[in-house]
Amino acid sequence: MNAVVLLGPPGAGKGTVAEVLVDKGYRHVSTGELLREQIRLGTKLGLEAKTLMDQGQFVPDDVVVGMIRDLIESVDSGSMFLFDGFPRTLVQAEKLDELISDLCGTLKNVFLLECPDDVIVSRLSGRRTCSKCGAVYHTAFNPPSDDDGCDQDGCELVQRADDSEATIRKRLLVYAEQTAPLIDYYTNKGLVDTVDATQSIETVRNAVLEYIA
Ligand code: ADP
Ligand code: ADP
Repeated sequence: MNAVVLLGPPGAGKGTVAEVLVDKGYRHVSTGELLREQIRLGTKLGLEAKTLMDQGQFVPDDVVVGMIRDLIESVDSGSMFLFDGFPRTLVQAEKLDELISDLCGTLKNVFLLECPDDVIVSRLSGRRTCSKCGAVYHTAFNPPSDDDGCDQDGCELVQRADDSEATIRKRLLVYAEQTAPLIDYYTNKGLVDTVDATQSIETVRNAVLEYIA
């Protein structure tokens, strides 16, 4: 298996970039989406995760790594994985290296989406997500063509519980403490491609597509 990682603070646009890489054949793996699915299903894991997520804290490494391991092992070994929101800690990054090496795979690129805090707050405050398919919109920067629902399936667009300003600030702190060290970790491996994520959605997507071309 081959893999690429989308790295960057919450709201930098990882999910938005992922949509075009899916069109290129990548299997999009968002740990946030996997966790929200568990919440929707009402599982024990989902209930425990929800409390942490609503406070802007991370779900424990072993829980997230377990989900990724199950997923990687259950799909075709020729898959190209696009990890979005994983890894988020050094422990997770080391576990991902192990999982990839066990499958004789390669981590090809880490795309770092750089975005300052004030831009992130305005992006996350206006983010709306399809309650069914998870498609991502923004009230001002990327509105749906029909005001009432998702362009893909017409379903209701909702605001995530953790996209309130207080929780956004907390998530930015957690990112700086626990996730930002991954930039050095992957830079030392020569894997990081940096993208200025304050540019338009199309420009950011094209910059990532150029790197993988
Ligand atoms: P965003 O990109 O807006 O931060 P995500 O959907 O990626 O949102 O994640 C939402 C929440 O899910 C995170 O704030 C965290 O609580 C939890 N989560 C997602 N991925 C991980 C991970 N790799 N490790 C720990 N917690 C995670
Ligand atoms: P992440 O997955 O990194 O948390 P998202 O892809 O969910 O980020 O994007 C966060 C919000 O910002 C969404 O409302 C999205 O529509 C919007 N957005 C994403 N990229 C851009 C961009 N380049 N310019 C303006 N808004 C953007």
